Amino acid sequence: MTSPVLRFAPSPNGPLHLGHALSALTGFDMAQRAGGRFLVRIEDIDVTRCREEYVTGIFEDLSWLGITWEQPVLFQSQQFATYVEAAQWLEGQGLLYPCFASRTEIDAAPVPGAVDPDGAPLYPGLHKALPKSEIEARMENGERFALRIDMDRALAKARDRLGGAPLTFTELDEAGNAVVVEARPERWGDAVILRKDVPASYHLAVVVDDARQGITYVTRGQDLYAATDLHRLLQVLMGLPEPVYHHHRLLADAEGRKLSKSAGDTALSALRTARKSAADIRAMVGLA
Ligand code: GLU
Repeated sequence: MTSPVLRFAPSPNGPLHLGHALSALTGFDMAQRAGGRFLVRIEDIDVTRCREEYVTGIFEDLSWLGITWEQPVLFQSQQFATYVEAAQWLEGQGLLYPCFASRTEIDAAPVPGAVDPDGAPLYPGLHKALPKSEIEARMENGERFALRIDMDRALAKARDRLGGAPLTFTELDEAGNAVVVEARPERWGDAVILRKDVPASYHLAVVVDDARQGITYVTRGQDLYAATDLHRLLQVLMGLPEPVYHHHRLLADAEGRKLSKSAGDTALSALRTARKSAADIRAMVGLA
C-alpha cells in the first residue's frame, strides 16, 4: 500500500476564512492520522481574479494554523500546457466540441427547467452540430471558443470503459464510513472543459492535478459534492486513478448563510489580529 496523499487546493481570489480552515485542517489531520503526505495546491487558473497577495496570505494562514505541507507547491497557472494537452486528447477521442457561443446567446436560449446542480441553466446545445466548414471559418477568423464535453458520447464511452458497471465514487461520510455513491454526470450537461478566457477549467485542472499528484483522498466542502460526478467521468475517460472523496460539512454565519470570501470577520487574518490562537480556530470550526 502506498501512503495516503491529501491536499488543500484553495483559489487565491480572496482571504481565507473559517470555512477554509475547516477544509485545510480536515485534510491535514487525516494525513497526520494516516501517516500520509499533505500538499497545498494553488488553484489560480482565474488569472484576472487571483492575486499574489492572497497566495502569500494562504501560506501565512496555514502556517499559523500549524499546518505543514510539501514543497514545491503546484500553481495551476503554470500548468496550462498540460490542461490543453489533456483537452486535446479528449477532443481526439471525439468527446469535446468547440463552442463559440457567447454568454448572451446561451442565456437567450434556455431549455425550460434544465439547470445544473449549481443552479445554472444547462447548455442548450447551440453549437453542438456546427458544420465543419463553419467551425474552420470561425477559427480562421480568430473567434474564441470553449471546448465542451459531448455528454452523450462521454457517457457511452465511459460505459464501454466500465464494461457496463455503474459510474460511482466512494465517499467517506462524517462518521468515517465508506459509502459508494452513483455518479450522475449527465446532470451537468455539455459542461465546459476548456474555457474561452483561459486554457483550463476547474473540472479539468482538478482531475489532471489530483492524478499527477497522486492524491488518494480528496477532502473538500459539500459545495463540490455534485462536481464529483463530472470528475469521476473525466477520470474514467482519461484512465486516471480513482481517489476516495470526503466532502465535509460547510460552516454557516450567524444568519445561516454559507461563509464567503467577503465575510470579513471570519477571515483568518482578522482572527489572528484579534489574538485568537490556532486552538481557538479549531474550536470555532468544531475540530477541537
Ligand atoms: N479550488 C477550489 C476552491 O477553492 C477547491 C477545489 C477542490 O478541492 O477540488 O473552492
